[in-house]
Amino acid sequence: MANEINLALELKHYFGFDKFKGEQEAIIRNLLDGNDTFVLMPTGGGKSLCYQLPSLIMDGTAIVISPLIALMKNQVDVINGMSEETGVAHYLNSSLNKAAIQQVMQDVTEGRTKLLYVAPESLNKDENVEFLKTINISFYAIDEAHCISEWGHDFRPEYRNIRPTIAKIGNAPVIALTATATDKVRSDIKKSLGIVNAREFKSSFNRPNLYYEVRQKRSDKATDDEIVKFIRQHRGKSGIIYCLSRKKVEELAAVLKTNDISAAPYHAGLDSATRSQTQDDFLMERIDVIVATIAFGMGIDKPDVRFVIHYDIPKSLEGYYQETGRAGRDGGEGLCIAFYRQKDLKKLEKFMESKPVAEQDIGKQLLQETAAYAESCVCRRKMLLHYFGENYMEDNCHNCDNCLHPKERIEAGKALLIVLRAIRALKENFRTEYVIDFMKGRATDDIVSHKHDLLEEFGEGEDEDPKLWSPVIRQGIIAGYIKKDVENYGLLKLTAAGRRFIQSPSQFMVVRDNEFKDGDDDDLGDTIGTALDEPLCAMLKDLRRDMARKLHVPTYVIFQDVSLDQMATMYPVTLEELQNIQGVGAGKAKRYGKEFCELIKRHCAMNNIERPEELRVRTVPKKSVVKVKIIQSIDRQIALDDLAEALGMGFDELLDEIEAIVYSGTKLGIDYFLEEVMDEDHVDDIYEYFRESETDDIEVALEELGDDYSEEEIRLVRIKFMSEMAN
Ligand code: ADP
Ligand code: MG
Repeated sequence: MANEINLALELKHYFGFDKFKGEQEAIIRNLLDGNDTFVLMPTGGGKSLCYQLPSLIMDGTAIVISPLIALMKNQVDVINGMSEETGVAHYLNSSLNKAAIQQVMQDVTEGRTKLLYVAPESLNKDENVEFLKTINISFYAIDEAHCISEWGHDFRPEYRNIRPTIAKIGNAPVIALTATATDKVRSDIKKSLGIVNAREFKSSFNRPNLYYEVRQKRSDKATDDEIVKFIRQHRGKSGIIYCLSRKKVEELAAVLKTNDISAAPYHAGLDSATRSQTQDDFLMERIDVIVATIAFGMGIDKPDVRFVIHYDIPKSLEGYYQETGRAGRDGGEGLCIAFYRQKDLKKLEKFMESKPVAEQDIGKQLLQETAAYAESCVCRRKMLLHYFGENYMEDNCHNCDNCLHPKERIEAGKALLIVLRAIRALKENFRTEYVIDFMKGRATDDIVSHKHDLLEEFGEGEDEDPKLWSPVIRQGIIAGYIKKDVENYGLLKLTAAGRRFIQSPSQFMVVRDNEFKDGDDDDLGDTIGTALDEPLCAMLKDLRRDMARKLHVPTYVIFQDVSLDQMATMYPVTLEELQNIQGVGAGKAKRYGKEFCELIKRHCAMNNIERPEELRVRTVPKKSVVKVKIIQSIDRQIALDDLAEALGMGFDELLDEIEAIVYSGTKLGIDYFLEEVMDEDHVDDIYEYFRESETDDIEVALEELGDDYSEEEIRLVRIKFMSEMAN
């Protein structure tokens, strides 16, 4: 029957569209012919139409299973809005009362309803099964079908019952649709739905207009600043920022608002009225930026989202792809920036420890894939597409950070050979970490218990650079020499090409990984990094040196290097603005700031520098609870050892905190404590030492001052000194 229908006419009639997108038409014909169908299409590809249009054409009612109640209502409204008749689309879920359910059932029974959206938990209910048995079903559509698989990013156990329930209700063709599926997830879906022979329609997942970049995350504060700057450079454009925790969502939204960016938070902890208001405001462009947990976005169909930022590295590449996919749906610009540091990854792993072992194992493997993506210098597009089982053949995509700033390739044929030989020696039965230990010749308990330390290949890679193993293995996988068996805990296997390589090795060029330092939560030591005005910076340093001489104080007492770097980036010209610079409090600004501001002002005027208004990032004044407590306690002259005990920290840790406070520009008076615990002469000696010294380094001080002075004493006096001289 399918061939007789002019689908283009139907499309125009119902939806007003002139032509089909991608493979929509072929998909619809396949379904009209009564076949099971599997659709893999990226977000925004137009999946809904693949079941909506045939449902309107065919006899009976199509059952659409979809996980999201909010989304259902939306789609039902759209369909009903297109039609002159009432009740063409309905939904059945827990949000309906008895009367509404009666109405739905009546419309369905009387044949008015072509599309019935059902939440999976409602589908499984006995009374609904009984009802659905009595009606004529055209087909079943399973949207967001990846929810079936534990290997997807959004597993829903109720999805597992779909097939058994369909069997109870009565058979009809099945169409499953999803935007994210690795090979593993795809085979899970087909098995669970009992449609292993379904015809598969797979569109390319490449989104050429999306730009991918991963940035090193330093501190939270530095990341907030970077984001503020980024948004100001893209003022007025729509964007989404994803954070993992609700707390961070709230905090970041507050920072953005303080900086005059129209932003709002969105997470599941907000009441539903607020959430739908926010969603609406975003769609209507009353808000530019949404800061959200991953609760936001499924079903958001805003075509001109221009950037998606991941504040935290996502838990899986499926999630990442889905979330970044919300950018640039209209084919225009879509900037996807993710912030990454290894510490965040460890935190995520820790969270998983409370889960069942099998689930932990899956979660960790997914995390490792994201880490590999973040750390690698290979084309991001190539990595993403490879992850979804697609070969991207271009050498350079010209639209990701790694392709725009390519790293030098190095020859690693020998290293690859060692890897392949190791995998073979281990009978293709072990994971990456084990293989690496084996090549390095590390006789771990595990390796010894398998007697693998006795094999000829054990330790073959001892002399190679250990940092090369991860990139060689990952790039060996992408190049098709190695296969990672995801169904089996990520065991490494050889492909035919891998075996051939062992027989006749050749060149193998790789790029090294990015080195990600573990970001520090402490804001000391972070510079803004970009756009440093070098000549100005040099002048500021000269000024600092001259002032230090005149005032007889060491240079670091006046301003630290990080502070000067920031001044040469942000151009503060008033004492208020100066206090936005790291390490500058009110006291320091007043004491030393005037000449610096004047110099900066002159420099800007002479060189016609338009002070980048947007670079002056305002911060929400915020000190951690502990720091506030310490400041208050010192004001009340509490003995520091008692204070450490009260706070449950070691004395050393307390000193760390106090130093952080003083070095960021706040004055603290600890004389009361020094008088109590230290010899007056010692205090004076150390104080004098710092007056003269070139550096405030403790190690150097210990050396210079000799054995009579303890490290603790030196640190205490340095706190006094910095407080009095620098702040
Ligand atoms: P998906 O579910 O694959 O993410 P949707 O079904 O939500 O995508 O469709 C994305 C957008 O594309 C919607 O705005 C939809 O109206 C539009 N669309 C779908 N098919 C067509 C078509 N043939 N022509 C024009 N626009 C289309
Ligand atoms: Mg959809």
